[in-house]
Amino acid sequence: MTKLPVLVFATNNLHKLREVYAILNGLAIVRSLADFNLQTEIPEEGDTLEANARQKAWFIYNHLQKDCFADDTGLEVYALGGRPGVYSARYAGEGCAFADNIRKLLSEMKGISDRRARFRTVVALIIEGREYLFEGKVEGHLLETEAGTHGFGYDPLFVPEDYDITFAQMDESTKNAISHRGEAIRKMADFLKKYYQPGNKG
Ligand code: IMP
Repeated sequence: MTKLPVLVFATNNLHKLREVYAILNGLAIVRSLADFNLQTEIPEEGDTLEANARQKAWFIYNHLQKDCFADDTGLEVYALGGRPGVYSARYAGEGCAFADNIRKLLSEMKGISDRRARFRTVVALIIEGREYLFEGKVEGHLLETEAGTHGFGYDPLFVPEDYDITFAQMDESTKNAISHRGEAIRKMADFLKKYYQPGNKG
C-alpha cells in the first residue's frame, strides 16, 4: 500500500474537520492546526473570500512548510447586497458569538420578503509551493426564526433549495452532501486524485 500524502487543514473547527475527513478519506491524511504548536493567530484581512482563503493557506504553508489548504465561507444575502459575505464571522462585531450574528441578521431582515441567500466557500490549496482555488455554493433562503440544533453558524436560519428544513435540522451527512464547503472540497478531492497519480503532477 502506498503512503497517503499529508495535508494540513488551516482550521480547528470540528464541524469543518469532520466534513473534510469524510470527503478526503483514503486520499490524504488531514491534519488540523491542533496537531501543530502554532502560537500566532492566522491573519484574515482580505475583503474577499478568495483573498482570505489564500492568505490563511499561504500563512500556514510559510510557517509549517507543509502542503495545506484553507477555506473561507460567507453567507451572501441577496436583499442585503451580498452581506454579511466575507464578514460573516464578525457580522455582529469582533469576538461575537454565532447567536449574536443570527440576532443581527434577523433584525436586518425584519420586514424584508426577499429571503434568498447563499453560502459560498472558497478553498485555497497549496501543494509543492503552487496554489489552486476551488469554489462551492449552495442557494437557499432564510427563515424568520431559528430551527434546529445541529451544525454551526447560520445553519438554524438557512433552508437550502429543494428542502423544507434548515441545515441545522439535517444530520451531518445530509448537509455535507449538498453544502457549499462539501462542493468545494469535493472539487479539491477530484483535483488531488489526478495530482497524486504518478507522472501527472500539476
Ligand atoms: P469561515 O471564515 O469559513 O470560518 O466562515 C465564516 C463564518 O461563516 C462562520 O463564523 C460562520 O458563522 C459562517 N459559516 C461558515 N460555514 C458555515 C456553515 O456551514 N453553516 C453555517 N454557517 C457557516
